[in-house]
Amino acid sequence: MPSCPYNSYSSSLLSRFGYKVFRVGVDAGFTCPNRCGSPDGRGCIYCDSQGARAAYLRSSESAYRHDSGFESGIDTIAYKSEDCLKNTFTFDSEDIKKQVERGTSFISRRYKTYHFALYLQSFSNTFAPVAKLKELYDYALSLCSWEGFIISTRPDCIDDAKLDLLASYKDVCTSVCVELGLQSGSDEILRAMRRGHDVSCFLNAAEAVRHHGLELCVHVLTGFPGEGRSELDMTIDVVNKVHPDAIKIHNLNIAAGTELYERFLEGEVTAPCLTRHVENTVYFLRRIPYDIVVERLMCETPNHRLASPRLFPDKNRFLRLLERTMAERGARQGDLC
Ligand code: SF4
Repeated sequence: MPSCPYNSYSSSLLSRFGYKVFRVGVDAGFTCPNRCGSPDGRGCIYCDSQGARAAYLRSSESAYRHDSGFESGIDTIAYKSEDCLKNTFTFDSEDIKKQVERGTSFISRRYKTYHFALYLQSFSNTFAPVAKLKELYDYALSLCSWEGFIISTRPDCIDDAKLDLLASYKDVCTSVCVELGLQSGSDEILRAMRRGHDVSCFLNAAEAVRHHGLELCVHVLTGFPGEGRSELDMTIDVVNKVHPDAIKIHNLNIAAGTELYERFLEGEVTAPCLTRHVENTVYFLRRIPYDIVVERLMCETPNHRLASPRLFPDKNRFLRLLERTMAERGARQGDLC
């Protein structure tokens, strides 16, 4: 029996490919229909416009450490609805090329490997007309020999034409995966988050991704105000219903510059502490099947932008605590399914 009590991403890569495939995050310049659709351009109330970008693409943050002090005066990226709604997406091919070169050379230098997956992570990476998406995807995929292609988006931002296009890249890459944000299985919580979609929208999107033979990774967010065990159970039920290939579980982070931060300052909300997130995560993992690959177990907002929870360890310490807690309880992913 493997020592890790859950189906970790790194071990799943090793058993699938025989080696690790490293994701190269590329910010292609997309926006998000939820930010465009809201009057102030801020979208979900926890939306951290900086954090939607891959950490190593935020070069202005490279001087900060995990234990940096908090700075409230953070610039946010807001979009004017009228510009957004025209959806005149364009991409900067030179910039994308530079990002790919920077990402692949960093990874090959540090990990001595040349196995890469293109990861379009920032905002909603299907938010453009299909012809424009094809132009971008074809270009980015031509820049390297990619073994995987991962596209992060919202459930209300895909349709059959976009999924047909994504499915066509299965001839190019061994793995083509769509990452969809569910966040919560409770419509009430989704409304409070101002997600702009409901559970049934997510279920339809997940089914469409499956129907096109694409891999599916689901994002969930635990610890939102108002979430108790019954709401967490609703999220688990939705995950089990769609049975994704992979999952990313995030704890709620309240970041500077978000609407949630304003409510936090007013004393209306707070975010779960370490103990509660460990409990939520153990509870969650025990109730989803072991064959779902666990790609992420916590949110990693840099400390200088993180208002709450302040006393949260870095990823390695969190994972060690989680694994120890599960081992002490004899708990494993899926043992209470
Ligand atoms: S879907 Fe993502 S990028 Fe869009 S508003 Fe919500 S958190 Fe922000």
